[in-house]
Amino acid sequence: MIVLDNHLHLSPRGMGWRAIRDFEKKGGTHIVLSHMPYQETPVLEGSFLSQYKVTLAMAEEVRENTGVGVLVSLGPYPVELLRLVEMLGKEKAVAVMRRGMEEAATLVEEGKAHAIGEVGRPHFPVDEWTWEASNEILGYGMELAAELGCPVIVHCESATEQTWKDLAKMADNAGLPREKVVKHYSTPTISIEENRGIFPSVLAGKDAVKKALSQGTRFTMETDYIDDPDRPGAVLAPTTVPKRARWLLEGGMATETELDIVFRKNPERLYGVELKEP
Ligand SMILES: [Zn+2]
Repeated sequence: MIVLDNHLHLSPRGMGWRAIRDFEKKGGTHIVLSHMPYQETPVLEGSFLSQYKVTLAMAEEVRENTGVGVLVSLGPYPVELLRLVEMLGKEKAVAVMRRGMEEAATLVEEGKAHAIGEVGRPHFPVDEWTWEASNEILGYGMELAAELGCPVIVHCESATEQTWKDLAKMADNAGLPREKVVKHYSTPTISIEENRGIFPSVLAGKDAVKKALSQGTRFTMETDYIDDPDRPGAVLAPTTVPKRARWLLEGGMATETELDIVFRKNPERLYGVELKEP
């Protein structure tokens, strides 16, 4: 059976591929490794490439040391904009973020990555300029994704009705199918009437996945594990998704057919890949 964690991070300062060995021991088969800013590799000379290389190298380490399949998501993390504005001023900061989108798109085109993300807007209140600039940068990322046919993994505030509407409108404007826009760290908002066709990636808490499954199978599951040695236990453990799968099956809360949709069919359609059992 395929068991996929749709969004987690690894850090060069953390457990790295060893965290994924634990995931594998519990029955996990695939991960989507998402880029995040790494303290030790700041954005240099206006390019995100040195940072993206860290993520790609960690993906390679997972492939070399485990049997877990790795998809990669690359993009300029939304909160980076605030740091870049302080360093470079507003205009240059936006240019660097846009370039980060282009660099991610190029790596998707080369087959080294499978999605643009996580990108979006800060999850906390910001001034109007930052909000609008973030939306504009996200819109640009969606345009690039539309050309490539790849998904965009969105980081933003906890979704309200307005959030789903905003994302749907942005996707439409960019010509990107709404189902290629993934709301990561999502609540179990599964009905298309509510999420407006945006694709939810649900945090794998027990109540959340139960609630999601009671509404259907159009979602993926994730931990958003951050592999930060300074904040152990701050987020769900990397073993959570396979443990949750077993718990759902043994408790009769999900069938194998349902989990096959959540863990295999949905990601296959999103990323345009075929997932094989190891
Ligand atoms: Zn994340």
